Amino acid sequence: MEKSYVLSKEDLPRFLERLKQFGTVFAPSKVSEQSYAFKAVECEKEISFEALRTILPPKKFLYPQRETLFSYDEAGNITEPEVNQPLVIFGAHPCDLSGMKVLDDIFTAPPGDSLYIERRKHILVVGQSCLPDKFCFCESMRTDSIKDGYDIFLTDIEDHFFVEVATPKAAELFKDNDFLIQASAPYKQAFKDFWHNRKELFSNRFETSNLPALLDLEDGNSVWEELGQKCLSCGNCTFVCPTCYCFDIVEIANFNGSGQREREWDSCQFNGFAKVAGNNNFRPGPIDRLKFWYRHKLHGFQDAYEFPTCVGCGRCTVSCPAEIDDIVGVVVRLEGRDDRKSIYAKEEAL
Ligand code: SF4
Ligand code: SF4
Repeated sequence: MEKSYVLSKEDLPRFLERLKQFGTVFAPSKVSEQSYAFKAVECEKEISFEALRTILPPKKFLYPQRETLFSYDEAGNITEPEVNQPLVIFGAHPCDLSGMKVLDDIFTAPPGDSLYIERRKHILVVGQSCLPDKFCFCESMRTDSIKDGYDIFLTDIEDHFFVEVATPKAAELFKDNDFLIQASAPYKQAFKDFWHNRKELFSNRFETSNLPALLDLEDGNSVWEELGQKCLSCGNCTFVCPTCYCFDIVEIANFNGSGQREREWDSCQFNGFAKVAGNNNFRPGPIDRLKFWYRHKLHGFQDAYEFPTCVGCGRCTVSCPAEIDDIVGVVVRLEGRDDRKSIYAKEEAL
């Protein structure tokens, strides 16, 4: 049902007012000199349209860092939380939309996670185009553009946005307005040119067709030991990842028999993640844990779902305090090539 329009940037306030009729709008906002986070916004001036990657991806709305699954009183009555607060995720880039689709696949697979499914129904997603920096490699992961997984998508074509309205939910919200104008041929051409030219801007590229075989063959490569010796096991790479979804369950029980069960994000990079009874640990050191993470994202998921769970957003690379989590660089080294300059190298002074 997708329909295309153009929106003058002068009409953004009106567009935003319409989105607010659906629910609270969360959009990228500047939180420090170099970082952005999804924050509730009231007007377009609070939105950082130039933001490339937010500290945390939109997964924090679909699947919060910590949430109550249910609570119970001393008589055994169970109460489930209400997760029906409508909200708009504004400005999700194609890689993040692809990450949300991975979470949808995980959490809605039968029997389905009821909290996730309910929360998802009340979310409207507005995607937005972006231009890559040196950390982005979504083009290699084939997530640099996307045909579904959003309600509305905005492509920046200078003083206008090209607007794709993709779902009945979005069409209903934007019926009877005079600021979305039917896209004429010149705008359609500008839209095509944008996406065509953008492909040329990716500098961080690698070959992805043989990743599972490469990881099998290079399981004993010394690169893993080198990375493992530097890894701090902090878990940053997993928390910032749009597709990492591991969690732990915490039972908070009171003496009177009441309590609640909570779910919180966990990380396969933590020492205790694979610990089992008898103090046995399947992955006791960072070398095993890092290798496991790479294999899970680039091999195991590929085998099971026919796509990897890395969407090439670059967050893990940017947020790794040990400066080792350069996925493209690691794969290139596993291939036996050492011609790639470290992505962590500071830009040369002009
Ligand atoms: S593994 Fe890294 S680059 Fe890939 S999706 Fe996760 S955070 Fe982004
Ligand atoms: S962010 Fe870097 S240091 Fe921290 S667990 Fe991941 S790879 Fe290791």
